[in-house]
Amino acid sequence: MKQRPFLPFTRPTLDEDTIAGVAEVLRSGWITSGPKVKEFEAALSEHCAGRPVRAFNSGTCTLEIALRIAGVGPGDEVITTPLSWVATSNVILEVGARPVFADIDPVTRNLDLECASAAVTPATRAIIPVDLSGLPVDRDRLYGLARAHGLRVVEDAAQAFGSTFGGRAIGSFGDLVSFSFHPNKNITSIEGGCLVMNTPEEARLAEQYRLQGVVRSGPDGMDVERVGGKYNLTDVAARVGLGQLARWAEFKARRHALARRYFQHFEAAGTAALGLELPVADFEHTNWHMFQVVLAEERLTLVRAELMKRLEERGIGTGVHYPAIHLFTLYRQMGWKPGDFPHAEYVGRNTLTLPLFPSMEDADIDYVVTELSALLKAHQR
Ligand SMILES: *Cc1c(COP(=O)(O)O)cnc(C)c1O
Repeated sequence: MKQRPFLPFTRPTLDEDTIAGVAEVLRSGWITSGPKVKEFEAALSEHCAGRPVRAFNSGTCTLEIALRIAGVGPGDEVITTPLSWVATSNVILEVGARPVFADIDPVTRNLDLECASAAVTPATRAIIPVDLSGLPVDRDRLYGLARAHGLRVVEDAAQAFGSTFGGRAIGSFGDLVSFSFHPNKNITSIEGGCLVMNTPEEARLAEQYRLQGVVRSGPDGMDVERVGGKYNLTDVAARVGLGQLARWAEFKARRHALARRYFQHFEAAGTAALGLELPVADFEHTNWHMFQVVLAEERLTLVRAELMKRLEERGIGTGVHYPAIHLFTLYRQMGWKPGDFPHAEYVGRNTLTLPLFPSMEDADIDYVVTELSALLKAHQR
């Protein structure tokens, strides 16, 4: 019998044109930040309705710099979700502010805006919503809340490139919007990210925070007014990003088709009977960055780690996105404890990311559903 090749939960799609383009940059004599970064920023700005966009070497520093641009610092509180990649709240600590978690909506698995609203205090300066798996947080309600309390919004749209709300691209409206181009995201620059801003002044600040606070003028003028870091993107990475950006819509369409197939097959397999919770069947807003099921822990006789191992033995890679942040040691030391955010904790314990990436075959979906269903059926309480 022919062995199936191992199916990872995600894999970037890099084409020959991009690879040739990278070779060209490498031979050009200029490999760090230069013309390709400018070209990438211009193309990203076009995607974001002409708003100012600057590229960086991660989608973590973009969040941190967004907070600095918003003037968030010691003594300030920033509301966010406990169910995200830990970068989302680490950046709040990095700028010396205090994260304030609010529980998630168990259906969307995104920040529950009612809980967020209840968490506002006189010290609240900003809110960082996360569009988990690309499913956008309701922007009307989000900005209504921000306006009502005078808060800045830093959208952690790391996973939402190509998603829309109200018919508009995420990033084309709103306050500060951060994207990541990590290899697992919908488009990649190997490592990288970008920040969408409101004004040329904010973009100027972003450039300073990006590179040692340096401001250049004329052929030989240089000044430093504030502390900046070292967060610039290379031209090599920007060339990868340009090759990806040209294909985002195609990638998104393929992800949608694959996600639809998951729904059809899980329905046929009798998902409800397996006690498996599927994601929101959204085909309007999300870019289908990931496809996560939530296991019914109370009904299964095998734990998630065991299930992941069994799937791996069958050639299927899975992931966990994410354990609840407030239960990490660092955050427990700051006072959070189990029971603080029950919905985030339940999803954090039971979420399982299934394979979904543009170069997957339809048959891969069928295989994943068949194997997962069989394992779940065999281990019902
Ligand atoms: C990936 C990700 C980040 C961080 O992006 P990097 O480019 O890896 O630094 C932040 N927040 C969320 C929600 C992410 O998924």
